[in-house]
Amino acid sequence: MRDRRKWIVRTEKGNHVSLIINPLLRPHLTALAATVTAPLVTRFAPSPTGYLHLGHVVNAIYVWGIARALNGRVLLRVEDHDRIRCRPEYEAALLEDLAWLGFEPDFGLEPLLRQSEIPFVYEQALEGLRATAHVYACECSRKDIGGERYDGRCRGRGLKVATGRGIRVQLGNDMEKFEDALLGRLSQLPAEQCGDLLVRDRDGHWTYQFAVTVDDLRQNVTLVIRGADLVSSTGRQILLARMLGRRNAPVFLHHPLIHDDLGEKLSKSAGDTGVRELRSSGLSAPEVIGIAAARVGLVDPGMPIHASEVSRLFEQRVLPGP
Ligand SMILES: [Zn+2]
Repeated sequence: MRDRRKWIVRTEKGNHVSLIINPLLRPHLTALAATVTAPLVTRFAPSPTGYLHLGHVVNAIYVWGIARALNGRVLLRVEDHDRIRCRPEYEAALLEDLAWLGFEPDFGLEPLLRQSEIPFVYEQALEGLRATAHVYACECSRKDIGGERYDGRCRGRGLKVATGRGIRVQLGNDMEKFEDALLGRLSQLPAEQCGDLLVRDRDGHWTYQFAVTVDDLRQNVTLVIRGADLVSSTGRQILLARMLGRRNAPVFLHHPLIHDDLGEKLSKSAGDTGVRELRSSGLSAPEVIGIAAARVGLVDPGMPIHASEVSRLFEQRVLPGP
């Protein structure tokens, strides 16, 4: 049952907002600070496969809010590893919308950090992986596999890496246990969940799982803040990071998502939840941020929140309230 206790905090000068306190909405900041390896670096990592919508705004609220509350830094990373679905016009629009909202990355903006521009980084990581793990070519299509889990049927075939073949890495049978900053203690068994991980797909694209794990390692990301739809990827990313030589896994925080009227996660073609649409309807940036925060229950509806003030949503400074 949702805990409806409220804390009153100040968001702007003379402006008070009541926060709904729910342990699944806000991390315990002191405990979080104690578990993250210093320096605290988190990232905002959109894919230019569509326009920004309220779901991205929720993520930005968490990323900037928690980073600022803990004196951490925010890295911007354009996750354009999927060269088929990504488009330059989406990238330009998401940067413009982010600036309009007022969320300023500490690094990664100039020059812009794009996954597509650093194939050598992933090549090098793959070479490193070959030294310690069984890396092999796989010719199975999604249809051949027929589900999320790959059964390893090409593992012992000795196929050569070639155009039209993917590359996988064999996963051990270890149970991955980790402490999510909101969801608490979780354990996952990647070998059972997904089987040997696809590193590069049959079209020659680095996969999401591989690219983000390599990037989080080389960019020293110590706190990953993302939506709860990605929680099942966490164990495999921790395992892969260790195989790539990472000593301390980042801390993960999976926050609630906005759902549409049908209970589905917001999609790229978000219609009335698109930042562009909300802008053109005359709303201000603080109003849009306030709507996103209210949609996940961080605040009551109708409270504009400036991007520079989102840390107040997490600091839980109690003021005398009504
Ligand atoms: Zn295969």
